[in-house]
Amino acid sequence: MRKKIVAGNWKMNMDLNEGLKFAETLHKHFTENPPAKAEVVICTPYIHLAGAAAVLKKGKVSLGAQNCASEASGAFTGEVSPWMIKSTGAQYVIIGHSERRTYYKEDDRLLNKKTALAINTGLKVIFCCGEVKEERENNTHFVVVRRQLEEGLFTLQPGELDSVVIAYEPVWAIGTGLTASPEQAQEMHKFIRDLIREKYGKESADRMPILYGGSCKPSNAAEIFSKPDVDGGLIGGAALKKEDFVAIVEAAL
Ligand code: PEP
Repeated sequence: MRKKIVAGNWKMNMDLNEGLKFAETLHKHFTENPPAKAEVVICTPYIHLAGAAAVLKKGKVSLGAQNCASEASGAFTGEVSPWMIKSTGAQYVIIGHSERRTYYKEDDRLLNKKTALAINTGLKVIFCCGEVKEERENNTHFVVVRRQLEEGLFTLQPGELDSVVIAYEPVWAIGTGLTASPEQAQEMHKFIRDLIREKYGKESADRMPILYGGSCKPSNAAEIFSKPDVDGGLIGGAALKKEDFVAIVEAAL
């Protein structure tokens, strides 16, 4: 059985003090109430990482960044490399979030480079894919997701793929209050798992965690997570409130 993963994406929220306080609150909660069936991850802004790693040490909450550079080091002003992220104590990095693809024009080639570098640095990658509203309406959503995976991920060696978690995030559902129906999520997750099976074989496909993201909240999480190919969620807005985030983790049976 695949373990479920619930990962919070804090996006660009909370200053350092607020972020560390919130990390402490979650650490305390999940130490006292260990999530039996799900791994909990928080993906914070870069500035929180080192402090949050100290707060979360030896606890039940894993830590990740939300982006990384495509180069290991050097003259890249303002960038933060996977190696630097790893040195904070973080274990994960989100790559290919739709906000990076849209606002920062990150394309499949760049995301592929970032992914390979992050994995070779020893980080686990939460690789995001998903179609925009027009693509869903034009019925090209499968074509788009296939391209994102083929170009972004499928250059990896089978061993490298074990460091990947895929997050299917229909862009029309992110931060909009619209959610994919559990059936729409299952249909796409199964499609993704079938693609992995074709390329890497059954065992890799069966092992791959595929998370759903897009306006996931306490009221809809349990139903979405109950689908056979949905292995948890990548949570934005609802990851910023302890009660909501805890309820979503508890929905990951
Ligand atoms: C996200 O940012 O990855 C996300 C899923 O956001 P939200 O839950 O707010 O839709």
